[in-house]
Amino acid sequence: MAERRSPHIVHHWYNGRVVESIGARTAPIFDPALGIETKRVALADAADVQAVVASAQAAFPTWRDLSMARRQAIIFRFRELLNERKGELAEIITGEHGKVIADAEGEIARGLEVVELATGFPHLIKGGHSENVSTSVDVYSLRQPLGVVGIISPFNFPAMVPLWFFPIAIAAGNTVILKPSEKDPTAALWMAELWKEAGLPDGVFNVLQGDKATVDGLLAAPEVRSISFVGSTPIAQYIYESAAKQGKRVQALGGAKNHMLVLPDADLDLVADAAVNAGFGSAGERCMAVSVVLAVEPVADVLIEKVRERISMLRIGDGRRGTDMGPLVTEAHRDKVASYIDLAAKDGADVVVDGREVEVNGEPGGFWLGPTLIDRVPTTSRVYTEEVFGPVLSVVRVATYDDGLALINSGTFGNGTAIFTNDGGAARRFQREVEVGMIGINVPIPVPVAYYSFGGWKQSLFGVCKAYGPAGFDFFTQEKAVTQRWLDPSHGGLNLGFPQS
Ligand code: NAD
Repeated sequence: MAERRSPHIVHHWYNGRVVESIGARTAPIFDPALGIETKRVALADAADVQAVVASAQAAFPTWRDLSMARRQAIIFRFRELLNERKGELAEIITGEHGKVIADAEGEIARGLEVVELATGFPHLIKGGHSENVSTSVDVYSLRQPLGVVGIISPFNFPAMVPLWFFPIAIAAGNTVILKPSEKDPTAALWMAELWKEAGLPDGVFNVLQGDKATVDGLLAAPEVRSISFVGSTPIAQYIYESAAKQGKRVQALGGAKNHMLVLPDADLDLVADAAVNAGFGSAGERCMAVSVVLAVEPVADVLIEKVRERISMLRIGDGRRGTDMGPLVTEAHRDKVASYIDLAAKDGADVVVDGREVEVNGEPGGFWLGPTLIDRVPTTSRVYTEEVFGPVLSVVRVATYDDGLALINSGTFGNGTAIFTNDGGAARRFQREVEVGMIGINVPIPVPVAYYSFGGWKQSLFGVCKAYGPAGFDFFTQEKAVTQRWLDPSHGGLNLGFPQS
């Protein structure tokens, strides 16, 4: 496998250009469909972190003070460029992540939604105003940027997840340091070039390539005022605690284990379509993927047959060649996901479709794992209790709605969930009773649109602040409340009491 073809190294972006790393550390980037190393990525050391922070810090006062109208014009231009040239970005994503081109285009479309929301920022960061709260006294609020903000993103959405944060952060007057995943870092650099073309001043958007040491450098930098993190739960918790200790504002979105509850009255053809799309899209490497189908009996046998039929129709292969499902991101990740299938079999589950047996024409070295369907999964098995993050769909048979609900609510994650039913009363009960942040009613991947906010409960989100939507504007601004009175002689006199109206 890991044959080196090109010495190309993906570096950082700051002061408005690509800058080579000061440190010498690098990591491999693979083409997952071919299974070969195509590039390497620089891993920033302390000196690189310092230089990027200096770039963002220097750009902040001018960017903050630029009129809203001029900032808005640049964001509009970025939106137009991204829309025109999204095909180039999709190719980059597929080449490093492995997801099929249509899926890469889908993540860009969802990211574009946030850019479009950010173009309307003047309305969204308006403060309030109350006149005459006391005689001749007015109170009003201002929302101001934080300064330099850090974004640390995962491998599975190299464009969309950064786009959840940076359009809003930039619109609100902050300067950004994005630390993308070292597995697929080129999308971030491409977006940096696009910002430059859109007219964004140098230093407002910066890309710092790296790993844990780099992240720790960002956490320690006092100039970095906030951290927005998306990734696995243990790292999200670490980031949340470390950033808070350093006095930073922090939002940290973690992992997931999403259940789809199927009631006996549901249309099982639609359910099977939804389960396959949401279970195997992006090879299951989505934090909103459906990982478990909770089948309220007697639907399981029929549903499993329908899912099996649909799996047999999926084309697995290089995402650039019109397939339905691509490879996993790395060999190590593919092996880890495959090990859950071994485990499930050992724990007594019934492996109905085994993705380890997949054969892909023409690309023997790719990091392949086919769609896998496992029935009668014990809820004590690690394939049920842990996040698998691959194309493995577990079925758990339950007797009643209440049994299904109890299982969902006993989980440690609370990112997304869906109910499939034609019973409005049951759906309404579910939305009230389920302890999860994002709920689909006959919708398997309920990612909220940009003007709502994205985020889970429990171990899927640390802190109180979700991503984008109103929460995004709150996170990237800090509020000041001003109490004003224009003095006249009637306001004279001494009074040491606490001010009251
Ligand atoms: P990850 O936690 O391994 O990495 C995320 C980021 O943290 C990367 O930029 C990485 O370089 C950095 N990082 C890795 N180890 C670190 C460490 N020890 N200290 C500091 N930083 C570290 O996650 P991943 O494998 O890239 O992404 C998949 C995970 O992300 C899954 O768990 C998935 O559920 C989660 N995810 C969650 C959401 C959400 O919105 N809740 C969205 C997308 C992905």
